[in-house]
Amino acid sequence: MASDPNHSSATSTHESGQRWSNWSGNVSFAPDRFSRPRTVDDVVDTVRSSPGRIRTVGSGHSFTELAVTDGTLVSLSDLEGDVSGVDPVNHRALLNAGATLNRLSRSLESYGLGFKNLGDVDVQSLAGAISTGTHGTGRTLPCLSAELSAITVVLADGEVLRIGDGENDHLLPAARVSLGSLGIIVDATVDLRPAYKLHRRTFVQPLTETLADATSMWEKHRNYEFFYLPFCDYAFNIVHDITTEPDRSEGGAGDEDALRDLRRVRGVLRRAGRLRRTLLNQVAKRAPAEDVIGPSWQLLANERTSKFNEMEYHVPVESGMEAFEEIVAAVEANPLVYFPVECRRTAGDSAWLSPFQGGERVSIAVHIAEGDDYRWLFEVIEPILRRHGGRPHWGKLHSMTARELAELYPDFPKFAAVRKELDPTGRFLNPHTAELWGEPFGE
Ligand SMILES: Cc1cc2nc3c(=O)[nH]c(=O)nc-3n(C[C@H](O)[C@H](O)[C@H](O)COP(=O)(O)OP(=O)(O)OC[C@H]3O[C@@H](n4cnc5c(N)ncnc54)[C@H](O)[C@@H]3O)c2cc1C
Repeated sequence: MASDPNHSSATSTHESGQRWSNWSGNVSFAPDRFSRPRTVDDVVDTVRSSPGRIRTVGSGHSFTELAVTDGTLVSLSDLEGDVSGVDPVNHRALLNAGATLNRLSRSLESYGLGFKNLGDVDVQSLAGAISTGTHGTGRTLPCLSAELSAITVVLADGEVLRIGDGENDHLLPAARVSLGSLGIIVDATVDLRPAYKLHRRTFVQPLTETLADATSMWEKHRNYEFFYLPFCDYAFNIVHDITTEPDRSEGGAGDEDALRDLRRVRGVLRRAGRLRRTLLNQVAKRAPAEDVIGPSWQLLANERTSKFNEMEYHVPVESGMEAFEEIVAAVEANPLVYFPVECRRTAGDSAWLSPFQGGERVSIAVHIAEGDDYRWLFEVIEPILRRHGGRPHWGKLHSMTARELAELYPDFPKFAAVRKELDPTGRFLNPHTAELWGEPFGE
């Protein structure tokens, strides 16, 4: 039976002989053991009793080989207790790092609190999302890991270390974005805000207008992003602003319906470029605008049922639009592509390995349908995004290794030193992270 580490089991379990695969199915392996601890003591036990290497997994929504291990794979999906230590004055809470953002958003709502921002989906675990620098969009809104004030990590020898809020603060810039390389994160104190409602508007407009207006849209709106529709002269725009108006829901067509149409047109007219464009332009022009008001977490996150593989790079704002236009030209030369290309913006922060360290960035994400050959992302898309000074999303496809990463991240050596201090024998290394950190990976 295929195993799902997010599956809730009744007891703390250690299992063996099962395969694990990520959301898109492009990474699959058989760890020696699965462990699903229910308490922090169980996590300590797991670390102390596991014979070899350990990797921790969240919801498996990364596209890179971050989870791969032939040792023990730990999932905190059964870890008990979602929200504790609520500070209603400063709008903070201590959150279970193994819980999904969706589960946490629901619990936080009952305390009158909410995350300041979310990405496209909210099914990631809190620890998984912070560990890769997961972000949403908004010129003044940083990635989720920048909202942490402290985390608790179980280290390679089983020690439980609190980092932040006055304890071991010097380690916090390393621990914020750490790809499961320092230890197992069991909780995090997160800065939140009073629960709030958003007004979401979605509309289609010519791509040339979208590109010309993007910078001012990011200035004007709390959250703004757009999707360029391949082989079409139109772009799909999404705006969110805070409101106290009553809930409402008008217009709109589901993302999945739009994707189905794009896939069908690609299937029939893949070799008829002009006809494909004419047809898609007609469909896009008729797409109904959407106007919705509701709880923030329900409007920021979407369901993504059509599977894909993805590459996303975060480029400096100055070259964001130029890079995007080059990506559009590259996509137009590959009739296989039909998934929309996404463009977002995120505020800067100071975590050593945050892709947004040092200043805000424009994020450009290219998707290839599950089952389609995605080598093109590496051959054509990645060189463009690298040329513009992009840093890769740690959880999405990229081919960077230690030498190149050290050039992009001024604090790379500081992270390497903390990693060696906290995990001196490399228990949390796997082949992928060994390549990222420039470490040998042997038996
Ligand atoms: C459909 C889809 C939509 C997405 N949308 C966005 C988006 O809008 N914005 C964005 O930035 N990204 C997005 N992503 C990427 C995704 O947010 C990241 O890859 C994220 O890391 C996945 O979280 P996860 O819980 O699945 O973690 P996993 O992918 O399981 O793990 C990610 C990393 O976190 C580490 N980790 C997990 N749990 C722990 C723990 N308890 N302690 C220590 N380390 C841990 C793992 O070792 C690994 O290195 C999307 C991915 C998909 C598939």
